[in-house]
Amino acid sequence: MDYEAVIGLETHVQLRTRSKMWCGCANEFGASPNTNVCPVCLGMPGVLPVANEEALRLTALTGLLLNCAVSSVARFDRKNYFYPDVPKNYQITQYAQPSTANGYVDFEFNGGISRVRITRAHLEEDVGKNFHFERNSGVDFNRAGVPLLEIVSEPDISGADMAYEYLNALKDILVYGGVSDCDMEKGMVRCDVNVSVRPKGTNELGAKIEIKNMNSFSGVRKALEYEIPRQIEALNNGGKLVQSTRRWDDVAGVTEEMRTKEHAHDYRYFPEPDLMPFEPTKEWLAEVRKRVVELPLARKQRFMRDYQLPASDAQAFVWDVPLGDYFEGIAKQAKTPKVVAN
Ligand SMILES: [Zn+2]
Repeated sequence: MDYEAVIGLETHVQLRTRSKMWCGCANEFGASPNTNVCPVCLGMPGVLPVANEEALRLTALTGLLLNCAVSSVARFDRKNYFYPDVPKNYQITQYAQPSTANGYVDFEFNGGISRVRITRAHLEEDVGKNFHFERNSGVDFNRAGVPLLEIVSEPDISGADMAYEYLNALKDILVYGGVSDCDMEKGMVRCDVNVSVRPKGTNELGAKIEIKNMNSFSGVRKALEYEIPRQIEALNNGGKLVQSTRRWDDVAGVTEEMRTKEHAHDYRYFPEPDLMPFEPTKEWLAEVRKRVVELPLARKQRFMRDYQLPASDAQAFVWDVPLGDYFEGIAKQAKTPKVVAN
């Protein structure tokens, strides 16, 4: 039987703010362990969170860049779980009423333009980082409380290469908008992959397999190149797939089962009692709207259209914004923009 893959991605992106989400500690990569910490981000009893307004602005800005609606009321919720890198034993996130939802990303793929719809982009906080040594383990809480945006896509992706191109397009948009530096080396972008397969031409979704904590786009592509044939082979051999969570082993080049649905977390979400709902005013949103930039794809298409540039030249001016602006300043007065581009 012919099968097709159905893929949705949950992308976590650290926001480019000076301070953390609920306290004044620096949002800074590479500091000595546990130096950018305070009672708030260490989850001491009795402390209160204060929302970082710039993080709220960057979340709304992301919504606008991803063609989403910005909610008139956004709420924060507690997601309860115990893990050593979560000092409060809960994470503050947005569950029922996220800041922004219902958008899409257009990007170049297979010689055309593909669209992946965005379900929602919600604001939450990052967790600390565990380090495992030979005889003991340690936790660095510098990252705990760093503002984190989770961008959830609809299952509109049909293969490994498409997932890869979508992620790159998403990253380019966020970097262009000044939302995040998206430095993969520093773990600023991480991804959970939801993938299932079904007989081609059918509408019902197969058992959803989640591959957690991917930290590179090429890793996502490799994991999918392994996982999709694995699922198809299992079905072709008469097996049955169950909803489960897997991890990608980059060295071995395989995905491994971590837990099945019976062992899934129950996070017991409830409204965060220490934070007011956030209701952006018209004026506040208008200020955010001023920060909307021309998207990379629109810039490329404009350069090709207005200056008759080949795609490769236009792409070079998309990657190097100052160079592209410099070109445009001269090309506007030139008879042959292509010569200017050269
Ligand atoms: Zn702090």
